[in-house]
Parts: sequence; structure tokens; C-alpha cells
Amino acid sequence: TNPKNEVRLVKDVLHKAKPATDQYINLDHGDPTMYEVYWKQMGDKTTLVLSGWQSISYFSDTKNHCWFLEPGFANAVTRLHNLVGNAQTRNYHIVVGTGSTQLFQAALYALSPSNAPEPMSIVSAAPFYSSYPLIIDCLKSGLYKWKGDASKFNKDDPYIELVTSPNNPDGSIRQAVVNGSGGILVHDLAYYWPQYTPISFQANHDIMLFTVSKCTGHAGIRIGWALVKDKEVAKKMTKFIEISSIGVSKDSQLRAAKILDVIADTYEHTEKFDKSTLFFHYVYNEMAKRWRQLRSAVSKGQTFSLLDFPVEKCNFSGQRFGTQPAFAWLKCEKSIDDCEKFLKKHKILTRSGTHFGSSEKYVRISLISHKEEYDEFIRRLSLLSSMNSPHE
Ligand code: PMP
Repeated sequence: TNPKNEVRLVKDVLHKAKPATDQYINLDHGDPTMYEVYWKQMGDKTTLVLSGWQSISYFSDTKNHCWFLEPGFANAVTRLHNLVGNAQTRNYHIVVGTGSTQLFQAALYALSPSNAPEPMSIVSAAPFYSSYPLIIDCLKSGLYKWKGDASKFNKDDPYIELVTSPNNPDGSIRQAVVNGSGGILVHDLAYYWPQYTPISFQANHDIMLFTVSKCTGHAGIRIGWALVKDKEVAKKMTKFIEISSIGVSKDSQLRAAKILDVIADTYEHTEKFDKSTLFFHYVYNEMAKRWRQLRSAVSKGQTFSLLDFPVEKCNFSGQRFGTQPAFAWLKCEKSIDDCEKFLKKHKILTRSGTHFGSSEKYVRISLISHKEEYDEFIRRLSLLSSMNSPHE
């Protein structure tokens, strides 16, 4: 590559122009571009050079029942969980996936009986992650079917409950809500990291899903992992990935391993690193700042409201704080019925509560975009917030 082009590319990415006042700001997706600044600061520490002879074979570790799992990636995952203390890894099987999106489908495949007369019911308490119903019903599977809000579920049938904690979209800390006997739980812990929420306990659920997308910000690498207690379930999940994509990109696993290892290095070899390079501390501060900006904008008037989160002690950082989620779950007050439409009129794109099994009084807003975009969003929201009687 031409180094000049590379330099230009990096500049384009990092010095994203401040959006002009008449431009739309898109905070609909949870694209984690906020993280670019940190990784740029780390320079070459995460650079990985791969030659043409590498990643030729389909196989990574034929002794492991997840035969496409790169041992270096498995080590890095274990090392990171041990450092943070957010999940147990001892006696768990690791399954790697193309994002946790693939693992979520692998888990449904593994947990739904293949010979049942009716498809397995899948539920999650509203407001739930908007992709769940789309993914579950997209192929109209005979194995499973989306049954909506878990709190309205008739618990006599067998079911799988998806427990997302902290939750997307509203950041709440959750436990299963259905207390039927035939239930299986899948815990989506994409946001159980110390930049978003206090690590108050070491999770040890049967199936836990994680993703680099929301941990390190590398959504484009497309790597997630599952920690699975039961060997047979892990084997079946592996089978699903074998059938659907014959494994998971080795290059991506190697890059993800390198990135996770650098995070652990900054904590384990503090003598070699500046304090500002401690990953979770750096991004915790950025999230805290963005939440302060947002709460201050919302408090300028009565147009909008936000939830409050209970303060807890984080066993990782030792600090006490309330959840500072990757998304805001903003409510439009007064006469504004359709919050998404109202914000869109003011050139702020968000996702309506209706996608999450909730009301159009709410929208979900990403807090993890580029700083320039976020600052302009805050400026616009402050103006709307202090208006006396906003009309749709
Ligand atoms: N689960 C939740 C709760 C999420 O918010 C997301 C990302 N928006 C995912 C899973 C999917 O992550 P991935 O990029 O790893 O597929």
C-alpha cells in the first residue's frame, strides 16, 4: 500500500469533520466508532502482519471440539475474563462465532429439539433488542419461533428466554422474568464490561454470549464468543457454525486475540504503559463524560426524560457508579407522541421504541459514535430541550 494513502485514510477516520448544522446525524445504529481514538493512540501495538501462507487450512485445533477456534484467541478470551472478573471461564467451553449474532442463532439451534411437534417459543422481556425477532423469524424455522415479550408469556410451554444484561435498549440490569419449569436461558452479556456497568459479580450462567463489537469496539472484525457449560450444547453450537459457514475467519480471530492481549498487557505490565492507556479506564471516562453531557442537555427543560440507574460498586475498578449504557433510552414528554419522528424533523436519526416492543414515546440513541457527531447531537438536543412547547 502507499503509505501516503494510509496516512490520509487514518486522518479521514480520526478527524471526522463536525457535521454541518443542516446535516443529519445518524444515531440509529450502535456503530462503536467512539473507540477509534483510543486504538489510534495505541499506534502499532495492535498491528498484526499476516503473510499469504497463513490461514490456509479450514482447521485451527483438531483436538478441540470447536475445531475452528484459534488457541491464541481462546487464551486471550480467558485472560481478559480473568482480568475483568465479569464471567467465569473455568469448566466452560468456548465457541467462537462471526459476531455474537451467529452464536445467538447457534444457541437457538442447539437448544431447540429437532423432533418437537411445535417450534420452540423464544421470548425476551420488553423492551428487547430489536434484532432478536428479525433474526429468529427470518427463515421461518420449524425449530423455533419468536413469541415476544417474556413478561406476557404463557409458561406452560417449553421456551428459551433471552436475558440481555445490561439490556439493549434501556441499559437495565436483568434477570429471567418467566418462572416456568420448561425454560432454558441464554444470557446475552454484550455490554457486561466495566466501561458500561459496575462488574458486581462473576457471571456463571449456562450460556453466555460476548462480542468484541461492544467490548473493544471492533464491530467490523465480526468476532464473538460463547461460554457454554454443557459440552453437548457447545458441540451442537459448533455444528451449526460448521453447517452455516464452515468455521470462523482465522484472520479475524488472530486480530481479535492481539487486541484483547494488548488490553490485558496494559493492566498486567503497568510499568511499560502510561496510565491513560488503560483501556477500560479510558473508555469508562469517555462514557461517563458522554452521559454527563446527555443528562445536562435533558435537564435544560421538560421535553425529554431519561432513566436513573442504581449505583453499585465495581469489583474491577473499585469505583462506585451507575450503569452508563452504550444507548440512551430517551422518552419524549408533553405533547410529543412520536419521538423518532420529532427528532428526525430536527435531523437526528434514532430508533423508535416500537422496534423494541415498546411505545413510540421512546427512542434508542447510540452514545458510542464519533465525538464530533455526538457533540453536535448534544448541541441540538440542548436546544430542543430548552424550547418551551415543542410541537411535532
Ligand atoms: N447482542 C446485543 C444485545 C447487541 O446489542 C449486539 C450488537 N448491537 C449484538 C448482540 C450483536 O453483536 P455482534 O456485532 O457481535 O454480532
